[in-house]
Amino acid sequence: AKQTGHAHFQFYVASIDQEIRDRKQMEKDLTQALVNREFHLVYQPQINLESKRVIGAEALLRWEHPSRGFVPPDDFIPVAEANGSIVEIGQWVLEQACAQAAHWAAEGTPLRIAVNLSAVQLRQDSIVTDILDTLRRHSIPAGRLELEVTETSFMTNLSDAVAKLHRLNQAGINIAVDDFGTGYSSLTYLKQMPVQHLKIDKQFIRDLLVNEDDTRIANTIIDLGKSLNLSVVAEGVETAEQEYYLTQRGCKLAQGYYFSKPLQPRDFETFVQDFHQQ
Ligand code: C2E
Ligand code: CA
Ligand code: CA
Ligand code: CA
Repeated sequence: AKQTGHAHFQFYVASIDQEIRDRKQMEKDLTQALVNREFHLVYQPQINLESKRVIGAEALLRWEHPSRGFVPPDDFIPVAEANGSIVEIGQWVLEQACAQAAHWAAEGTPLRIAVNLSAVQLRQDSIVTDILDTLRRHSIPAGRLELEVTETSFMTNLSDAVAKLHRLNQAGINIAVDDFGTGYSSLTYLKQMPVQHLKIDKQFIRDLLVNEDDTRIANTIIDLGKSLNLSVVAEGVETAEQEYYLTQRGCKLAQGYYFSKPLQPRDFETFVQDFHQQ
């Protein structure tokens, strides 16, 4: 038994060691990724359930690593946040998304673009002017940009986050609370925050019609949105049944594989045309 314990212990140490090396390697690779142009954005349509129109797109970051291939954002975003490289990467995302929005507007399809803003980015002193400068450089009206922030963004320094979001919102930018209900939810900050949208996390939508708790949570968020006059976006809608339920229940906006997975810009344009012709 002692032998086994020892062997286990060694295995344990080795795996921790491996994890640290993997992480260090990923940190190094991340700093190279921007220079090597390994990132690109894909766009997932956001649908107005009443008018059946595409009202905008969420920009989602993709990383094609030269040897590892596709690395999911859930794997590398936390690393980029921990070592601070998310600041530079996030600025690149904003640039790209604004360039794309400007391109679509020039082609006669002015769509709203939603960009995920990390808590680490929001903590930067220059974040507000950086965002406003980027909009100006691309001649994008502020109302065409939406920033998706999570509840964790408000936790470290609530008054600082409130002040910055107020300045962004005053300029005309919309703010959405992402993954609503999964984090450190508090109704106190909702009252203080200049927020226009609540996004129901996909974990509550997945079993919306099978798990009663999920049904209740989704209903509660929809009702909360109504009473606070915030529009609610359901994320991760995969079936016609989910769409039907949400529409009946009064949820106005949705995104998910049922409509479309995140798309390359060209495919997004085709999707919008086809969707509006139906
Ligand atoms: P999120 O912001 O909650 O984005 C929604 C995720 O759900 C995306 O995963 C999207 O591709 C996926 N999704 C959309 N529809 C469906 C569906 O019907 N079913 C299922 N199962 N999934 C669906 P993705 O692209 O892998 O991104 C994961 C997370 O990484 C995002 O979650 C966001 O937190 C983060 N992320 C992605 N891009 C960026 C970025 O540019 N900046 C920052 N800071 N974070 C980002
Ligand atoms: Ca998001
Ligand atoms: Ca989510
Ligand atoms: Ca998220």
